[in-house]
Amino acid sequence: MSHSTSIRSRLRSAGIAPRKSLGQNFLTDDDTARRIVRLAGIQPGEVVLEIGPGIGALTRHLVQAARHVIAIEIDRNLIPILQQELAGAANVTILQADALAVDFAALLSDAGVDASAPVRFVGNLPYYITSALIRRMLESSLDIRSIVLTVQLEVAERIVAQPGDMSLLSVSVQVYGKPEQLMRLSPSVFYPQPDVDSAVVRITPYHQCDHPDTLFELARAGFSQRRKQLRNTLSAGLQLPKTDADELLADAAIDAARRAETLSIPEWMHLTEVYVQRGYAAAKRSDSSASDSLNNSDVAAPTTANSTEL
Ligand code: SAM
Repeated sequence: MSHSTSIRSRLRSAGIAPRKSLGQNFLTDDDTARRIVRLAGIQPGEVVLEIGPGIGALTRHLVQAARHVIAIEIDRNLIPILQQELAGAANVTILQADALAVDFAALLSDAGVDASAPVRFVGNLPYYITSALIRRMLESSLDIRSIVLTVQLEVAERIVAQPGDMSLLSVSVQVYGKPEQLMRLSPSVFYPQPDVDSAVVRITPYHQCDHPDTLFELARAGFSQRRKQLRNTLSAGLQLPKTDADELLADAAIDAARRAETLSIPEWMHLTEVYVQRGYAAAKRSDSSASDSLNNSDVAAPTTANSTEL
């Protein structure tokens, strides 16, 4: 019996008809399921949040690769079939819920997983929840390593669009991460067959920055005189004694003689962390709020920081 026939007969014997309103097109090709799970790049020890597991086409492979899988399915009729399919797996939590309404971090702690654990999202989604769901994932506080989604081809193309073809969807994804279109799927690998082709998209989130304002404060200072060494530009731009600028850079393992243009994004982020830890950010903020209140009636003169070219 092919996998497609088995899916059809399992649904039929459970008295279930696929619901179009929930975008139910179940993956029937096991090779495709394996390839999608491989594209997620799951490392041992990582947790997977699967959105819309259906009757477990991907879930049964995800449980082989991940430390724990949290599968969130809205359709309560599918839960018993899913439980049966995954009866042998001890590392899965099956949850009947709307993925647009759950708190992902709370689900991790309910499953006994530390909320700071690295996670990956995997899902085969109805098109009408795609953009809202991607935004919820990317705006969550989780340490997301990748998001692998099967979506309508046209939606995949909009997600990966480049300048000239951008839309609100591509901007809202690309501001958080880098999307790639990895695989095209014909309607024949689903039951029932959708009207259009689908595609697998992987989004790799950029490193998160906890203090973006402070990072830009440092970067503005650093780039204010781009040919000068960081020890000088930071000292001048942040009104720090040179010895403090040297210590700050030493703590961040950045040679004080380097120029701003040579720093990578992770280095800027690390420098920001050190700057915050040393208490400079808080001290400067209280200084500037004091001077703001003093200068309320003044017209602010342009500062070097404000006039830095981006
Ligand atoms: N992953 C399965 C597969 O590949 O065969 C099923 C894919 S099917 C296209 C989409 C699944 O998402 C369905 O099982 C549907 O019930 C579920 N779903 C739809 N909206 C959902 C939501 N808001 N939250 C959780 N699951 C949802």
